[in-house]
Amino acid sequence: GMWRRLSSALMFDAVHVVVSAVRELNRSQEIGVKPLSCTSPLIWQHGTSLMNYLRMVEYDGLTGHIEFNSKGQRTNYTLKILEKHPAGHKEIGIWYSNNTLAMNSTSLDLNASETLANKSLVVTTILENPYVMRKSNYQEYQGNDQYEGFCVDMLRELADILKFSFKIKLVDDGLYGAPEPNGSWTGMVGELINRKADLAVAGFTITSEREKVIDFSKPFMTLGISILYRVHLGRKPGYFSFLDPFSPAVWLFMLLAYLAVSCVLFLAARLSPYEWYNPHPCLRERRDILENQYTLGNSLWFPVGGFMQQGSEIMPRALSTRCVSGVWWAFTLIIISSYTANLAAFLTVQRMEAPIESPDDLADQTNIQYGTIHGGSTMTFFMNSRYQTYQRMWNYMYSKQPSVFVKSTEEGIARVLNSKYAFLMESTMNEYYRSLNCNLTQIGGLLDTKGYGIGMPLGSPYRDEITLGILQLQESNRLEILKRRWWEGGQCPKEEDHRAKGLGMENIGGIFVVLICGLIIAVFVAIMEFVWSTRRTAETDEVSVCQEMLTEFRNAVSCKKNSRSRRRRPLTSTGGGVLRHPSRLTLAGPRPIRLIREMRLSNGKLYSGAGCPDLGPGPQRLLEDPLVAPPAPPRSFLQACSHVRICQECRRIQSLRPAALTPPPPGASPPPRPDPEADVTAI
Ligand code: ASP
Repeated sequence: GMWRRLSSALMFDAVHVVVSAVRELNRSQEIGVKPLSCTSPLIWQHGTSLMNYLRMVEYDGLTGHIEFNSKGQRTNYTLKILEKHPAGHKEIGIWYSNNTLAMNSTSLDLNASETLANKSLVVTTILENPYVMRKSNYQEYQGNDQYEGFCVDMLRELADILKFSFKIKLVDDGLYGAPEPNGSWTGMVGELINRKADLAVAGFTITSEREKVIDFSKPFMTLGISILYRVHLGRKPGYFSFLDPFSPAVWLFMLLAYLAVSCVLFLAARLSPYEWYNPHPCLRERRDILENQYTLGNSLWFPVGGFMQQGSEIMPRALSTRCVSGVWWAFTLIIISSYTANLAAFLTVQRMEAPIESPDDLADQTNIQYGTIHGGSTMTFFMNSRYQTYQRMWNYMYSKQPSVFVKSTEEGIARVLNSKYAFLMESTMNEYYRSLNCNLTQIGGLLDTKGYGIGMPLGSPYRDEITLGILQLQESNRLEILKRRWWEGGQCPKEEDHRAKGLGMENIGGIFVVLICGLIIAVFVAIMEFVWSTRRTAETDEVSVCQEMLTEFRNAVSCKKNSRSRRRRPLTSTGGGVLRHPSRLTLAGPRPIRLIREMRLSNGKLYSGAGCPDLGPGPQRLLEDPLVAPPAPPRSFLQACSHVRICQECRRIQSLRPAALTPPPPGASPPPRPDPEADVTAI
């Protein structure tokens, strides 16, 4: 009866359409009717026009809206889906001619007598860590036991609560599900629509587009789209990171600056008369001698002392040399401050700022490729986005060749690790892979917020029960416990831990290397100095250098006084315990002075004019030697000659040109107070 009624209605509408088309045709042209033979090639002249008018007809008839496309097929119509009920038929949904289906879900739920208890459901899912994974030895198992993961555990607990059994079936095309241009759906969504499965349990995102064609339970996990990128490895701090605060060029210029300062200092000190002074103003024998402390060695040493913030005993006296020292110290101040300020950062820096920090950065560049998993909600998020940045990103991803879309998350991770590729993925998986691989990092925040739900065919009778089960699991914290179990790991040190960690040997080891090298060089130089001095003084010596060095060491260790010269040559002891070489007894006057000056070369201050009564055997004593130097003034006299009290003689010597003076005879008592005018004439 139903079919007859339908065909009558269709016939009725067809006649109506023809009538209105002919009426339209008749309005524009006179249509005459004439008989046509089927065998003649003649056609009715108005035939094609009538066909066009037929296609243009639009009208609401008994079978709904009537409209035709260019091919003459009916378009824009709907089919009502009816369900048989004891009391007749009930409309439960509408099918649209553009291939979409709208089920009136509440009507389906009316048969709520259907419960999950004792049902056996087919569950479609997709392999995705850590939601559903194959066990490592899955070949030994059958059916559901092959799988493990967060979703499998959750499904088992749900099945326990709701008393149903299930069979896990991996989705055929390995996709989550996205709409195709022809209106059908791929992936798990497609399997639910086609009733190949009763549930979809996976990291299955709830979207409005999917909600139109399938049903979702309430979400069991919340997440958002995030960007995964590999850690941008900066240079790892090495042994010599302490050099990094300055570029090699700066270090080079500092070296040049140092050499320049040394040279200028040396020259300025030579030119300036105030740097020439008499270190032994009290010794008559030496009062004609002026010294300049800025020898080449000292000129090189003084800036080093300043630069290292240690100073040295050499102090500039003249304005010119003080000027040089001042600017050098100012230079040092800035250099050292900058160095200190930068040092900590350079010793610890391991991760540099990533070149991208947000989706906008990603959209603004082409150097780093980016993409999503193919046929999932992340892809459709960009496809349907109305936000300008995301639209630009979609245009890039869509048109990029070779494709930036990946088949699976694993493929995406591999691509991130092996090329310049940023992977747009959901934050939960991002978190999971980051905890597994410390070379991965998340860039920026989440692009959106959404949830994972359990998918069901539209109008599934189990939706409320499943939702209830999920809420129960959530409230009993089972889901949280499961999440922790499957997302554990996290061996990667947190960003803050990097900061808090003390500096290790790998950060500052280099300075120990420098120290050790310095010590080795120092010992080497000491040996060279020793050998050099023994060679020079011991022409007639039979003892080998090595042996001599050994004895020297032995004495040093046993805290004996230096016995080197005594052992080497027979020495005579003179009154007062002064030891002298016999050869020195025959030396002419100037020799010890030359010796002393030589020693001053390497030590700026030790033998300066001020008295130093407690010095052991050494040049000071030589100075006091009555045979080579003028008879030593009494100790009290030497002390009186310190910079606090200047004796008459000292003053005179200091104020006179050395060449103009003849040394007073040895043993002469200090001259009487000089006449100021005599001084002037002498100059
Ligand atoms: N979970 C997503 C989905 O349901 C997969 C993705 O596109 O990232 O489609």
